Amino acid sequence: MNTQSEFRRYLANIDTTSTQQLFTDVLVIGGGIAGLRAVIEAGARCNVILVCKDSLQESNTWNAQGGICSVLGPDDTFQSHISDTLNTGCGLNDTEVVELVIRQGPELLRQLLEWGTEFDVVDGHIDVTIEGGHSHARIAHAHGDSTGRIISESLIEKVRQMQSVRIIENFYVIDLITDDENECIGLVGRNSRTGEQIIWAGSTILASGGAGQLYRETTNPKGATSDGIAMAYRAGAILRDMEFMQFHPTTLYVAGASRALITETLRGEGAVLLDCNGNRFMKDYHPDGELAPRDIVSRAILEQMLATNSTHVYLDVRNFDKTHFTKRFPLISELCDSFDIDVSRDLIPVRPSAHYMIGGVKTDIGAASSIKGLYACGEVSASGLHGANRLGSNSLLEGLVFGRITGASAAESAGNLQARLKHPRIKYKIPHSDRSRLDTIDVRNSLRALMWRNVGIIRKAQPLKEAQEIIRFWQRYVMDKVFDSPEGWQCQNMLTVALLMAQAAERRMESRGVHYRSDFPGTDDVNFAKHIELVRDR
Ligand SMILES: Cc1cc2nc3c(=O)[nH]c(=O)nc-3n(C[C@H](O)[C@H](O)[C@H](O)COP(=O)(O)OP(=O)(O)OC[C@H]3O[C@@H](n4cnc5c(N)ncnc54)[C@H](O)[C@@H]3O)c2cc1C
Repeated sequence: MNTQSEFRRYLANIDTTSTQQLFTDVLVIGGGIAGLRAVIEAGARCNVILVCKDSLQESNTWNAQGGICSVLGPDDTFQSHISDTLNTGCGLNDTEVVELVIRQGPELLRQLLEWGTEFDVVDGHIDVTIEGGHSHARIAHAHGDSTGRIISESLIEKVRQMQSVRIIENFYVIDLITDDENECIGLVGRNSRTGEQIIWAGSTILASGGAGQLYRETTNPKGATSDGIAMAYRAGAILRDMEFMQFHPTTLYVAGASRALITETLRGEGAVLLDCNGNRFMKDYHPDGELAPRDIVSRAILEQMLATNSTHVYLDVRNFDKTHFTKRFPLISELCDSFDIDVSRDLIPVRPSAHYMIGGVKTDIGAASSIKGLYACGEVSASGLHGANRLGSNSLLEGLVFGRITGASAAESAGNLQARLKHPRIKYKIPHSDRSRLDTIDVRNSLRALMWRNVGIIRKAQPLKEAQEIIRFWQRYVMDKVFDSPEGWQCQNMLTVALLMAQAAERRMESRGVHYRSDFPGTDDVNFAKHIELVRDR
């Protein structure tokens, strides 16, 4: 299906005769858990270049709090983890992928331990906790609520020791380069130190993370601007499940402050939700109360906010022992302290916000995209693990498992592709636009507000159509420009992906998983027990 009439293949001019060029067997875009794990695997077999647009410390992975799940406890089973994942995914999971990811979990977590990840331990075993949707305690955590940072540090350390790996931070990838047969042969990007560069590669791995920044309210750091999804779409890759954005029920709501996530583990360990009148309301929406799946908790909070005419609800952790709380959740403790919220006395104001992009670049069980030479893993991909809803803490696990698979597949195919790489000559020139200059920050803020209003937690045909009209209008004067900084390219990417999300959300005329349509509140298995795929016309 053609989803955009006006289309430009590349966002920047390309001229191989005058641009610096680098060569590698495997190219990895992204330094989160998926990219780093892929680098470790590929780097053991061939030369690798890893690029990321900021420092390696800037990623969703670095910010992950609650933990990574796997079958670790004596009373837990693979079957139980599999059925929890399938139940949460509402009929759209790929069962083969679910089995694969879950069965590899324990081995890959043990490997992380060997590489120095300091998981919290009790009586000599990795300590595990429980979150909504899980029927057993199986979430491993590190330094309390700093799991993502601790895992990242050990992976980064491992990657830095590899002679075969070159890391380039502050390298913004503008576009994937494809040849006449539409095989991916590298990328064009902007190195903040040396300017524009082309990197030719035997195979390329997209591990560029999520899209939370498309929404005004989000837990995601500033880099989650959906670049990878947009560049894969421009290159002709099939995208899948673009309507499925998961909203996290509880982010700190203090006007003016960033929307810091308040981990779900707190509810797993006994925190309760109260409305502004002090009523505990979750049991009115779901028998599992605070431990209901995330989409249900998010919608319940939103409905309760509407019913009580309030901007937020509260998380009550006053029943926690304060010393234990500070030790178990140091980040949240510090955050609350910084706003003078004394958790032993005060309630924590929270509301939902965009958290995890389930959809993305369609991949097969070997992490290959629909474009030869291009692989994808982690949040940028739609591997089929999550279905229509993600079970909490399954995403770090997915990054780890598919990072390893991708690294191995990409290294293997890089060998075959190398003979074919004959330093192609490319000249791509974009016509000059006379349209007026524009303030991309303003467009971006307006887009984020629009997405929150019209393509948010509760959706409906008319607002979804209106969102597409408005985005198309913005696209007319943003997409014809040639920018020379990430700010402009990010704005273009966000407009591209926002439109695709609104289109997919309009097409799914039912409610399933994280996608809720107030005009179609039921699940329609007859017409929609399938994926929605989008690909640009070539
Ligand atoms: C606050 C928060 C808490 C979370 N808690 C948990 C949790 O407890 N458990 C769990 O399982 N999941 C959690 N998640 C989700 C999980 O962290 C992510 O899904 C996962 O880390 C994604 O990993 P990734 O490697 O795919 O992408 P990321 O970690 O986001 O890395 C993306 C990388 O791509 C690079 N990149 C992006 N665009 C470009 C470009 N144009 N050019 C060059 N480089 C680019 C970035 O620089 C970055 O290095 C949480 C997420 C957030 C935001």
